[in-house]
Amino acid sequence: MTDQRFVFAPAPVPSLPVTGRAERFPVHRIYCVGRNFADHAREMGHDPDREPPFFFQKNPDNLLESGTAFPYPPASRDVHHEIELVVALGRGGVDIAPAEAMSHVFGYAVGLDMTRRDLQGAAKAAGRPWEVGKAFEASAPCSAILPVDAAGPLDGRRIHLSVNGATRQDGTLDQMIWTVSEMISILSGLFTLKAGDLIFAGTPAGVGPVEKGDVLVGQVEGIGSVETRVA
Ligand code: MN
Repeated sequence: MTDQRFVFAPAPVPSLPVTGRAERFPVHRIYCVGRNFADHAREMGHDPDREPPFFFQKNPDNLLESGTAFPYPPASRDVHHEIELVVALGRGGVDIAPAEAMSHVFGYAVGLDMTRRDLQGAAKAAGRPWEVGKAFEASAPCSAILPVDAAGPLDGRRIHLSVNGATRQDGTLDQMIWTVSEMISILSGLFTLKAGDLIFAGTPAGVGPVEKGDVLVGQVEGIGSVETRVA
């Protein structure tokens, strides 16, 4: 295949490494789930018992590979970390039943939903979209993807993040309000899911600001770790 069909060369396909494989995982879309941990919903001033899940998106080329510096973004003075489980789909579909959803999962990763909280807050207050707060350059640092067979059942694994060695976020995956199966099922009723989609599954309490020079290390037990330095 040549690029002669295009008026200029197309951008490279965003992708992530796959643990134990030479081939990379080509990323199609990035979906994110809001307020999926009750304690985080409360810290943001919401009642976790009354809300169905809601979604927003980041751009696939907002991915930042773990081990790469995170450039402090423009237009914000309040950039927050959110450690999240990332679900990587190997098969798409629409109207996927919860009982079938796990067969669509290729693997898991550990991601950071970096957020310009001041811009997100202003957007919320004005009833405007969240893109300026959520979908900026390098806003999605992510680990390699661990295939499901190697990952095993997620159960109540620990999810935690440290900044400069001090723990800031610490939870377990069984604190998620909506399970991985439920999220896939609900999303597939809203969008046509495709192989290559990523789902950032929400963050536990303890989100907070980062400063230039900070070193962020996020881990999900048995899945992997994402590391970046704020530059
Ligand atoms: Mn988030």
